[in-house]
Amino acid sequence: MILINEHYNKLTASYLFADIAKRVQKFQDDNPDKSIIKLGIGDVTLPLPAACVQAMHRAVDEMAESGSFRGYGPEQGYDFLREKISRHDFQERGADISPEEVFISDGAKCDTGNIQEIFSTDIKVAVPDPVYPVYVDTNVMSGRTGIMQDGRYQGLIYLECTPENGFIPDLPREKADLIYLCYPNNPTGAGINREELQKWVDYARDQKALILFDAAYEAFIRDDDMPRSIFEIPGAREVAIEFRSFSKTAGFTGTRCAYTVVSKDCRAFDLQGRKAMLHSLWNRRHNTKFNGVAYPVQRAAEAVYTPEGQTQVNDNIDYYLGNAEVVLKSMQDLGYKCTGGKNSPYIWIQSGSDSWSLFDDLLNKAGVVCTPGTGFGPCGRGFIRISAFNSRENVKEAMHRISKALS
Ligand SMILES: *Cc1c(COP(=O)(O)O)cnc(C)c1O
Repeated sequence: MILINEHYNKLTASYLFADIAKRVQKFQDDNPDKSIIKLGIGDVTLPLPAACVQAMHRAVDEMAESGSFRGYGPEQGYDFLREKISRHDFQERGADISPEEVFISDGAKCDTGNIQEIFSTDIKVAVPDPVYPVYVDTNVMSGRTGIMQDGRYQGLIYLECTPENGFIPDLPREKADLIYLCYPNNPTGAGINREELQKWVDYARDQKALILFDAAYEAFIRDDDMPRSIFEIPGAREVAIEFRSFSKTAGFTGTRCAYTVVSKDCRAFDLQGRKAMLHSLWNRRHNTKFNGVAYPVQRAAEAVYTPEGQTQVNDNIDYYLGNAEVVLKSMQDLGYKCTGGKNSPYIWIQSGSDSWSLFDDLLNKAGVVCTPGTGFGPCGRGFIRISAFNSRENVKEAMHRISKALS
């Protein structure tokens, strides 16, 4: 008899997006002549940078000629891309990461989900609250949790991110083996400084733990004091894996290219307590289960590192950051306590005792859709997230309507 993976039954369906859609539909039905502005989305809106498009076109032409056609590529990615990433994203910032330590992939979502298959199921996992749901659900699927109770899965350690701790969690009292951190953070928009990140690296070294560092929003950092990579922190090579993506950096959400950095010193342990190197495990996993990213897409990603590509990418990020500034200023002028909006495309707004009342106000009084914080975990209750991924025109119009309706 074919049996299912029973752990899937523990997953709780998220009613969040269905609930949002229902409320938006009702508003639209009741107000057919009003336009709705969506500031809830976590997806980019600007098209691909021209440098990436040109590089992709050239690569497609290469694939059309027998002399330059390429079949299966290296699973870990082409050297031309791994070398540029190693140099620009790490070496030039003083982080010692070599090209062989960079694994090109089709997404940071996939990688953060897939990485945990190289760890035992008998480890203690710590996740932030509020959280990017992928970290939690993939551990539920692989049997590292009990059932969900009061919004939390049994067996997980929840690292509470609150206004009191500046959305940087305290070190856990209970011993954690695998720790997820994401900075600049989705959904709170909070950043982390060197000193605070050093604490986590030291913790992982002391406790023989490992940090999974999601830096998908690294390109939004404009503050020179803020580390862009955990590998800028001394001691991190042994105890951290970093996830990066071209999705938010260069608008690749529909094009698909990302990478994961596993240093050759990164270690875990076997049952006898002997060191096991994670670079070779992840390499083995990649070789067996992954076929690499399409050649034209890797050429497009490579173009991000050309001078034109850098200018275009920075212009796009500046555009979103400009939107974020408009949102931040408007909401602060209305008296709301906000986090993010600087070094991040997200603004996390304190809304009172629950998230839905401000959500409903913004929708019904201004025709603006945001994301209720409750969707990201119990600590998201009492917050909403507004995203800067939209046109400047729409963001200004949305903030104009909100200011008029709520002041
Ligand atoms: C958008 C996002 C990613 C990027 O995922 P891709 O699969 O590379 O598109 C990763 N982590 C977080 C927290 C994100 O919000």
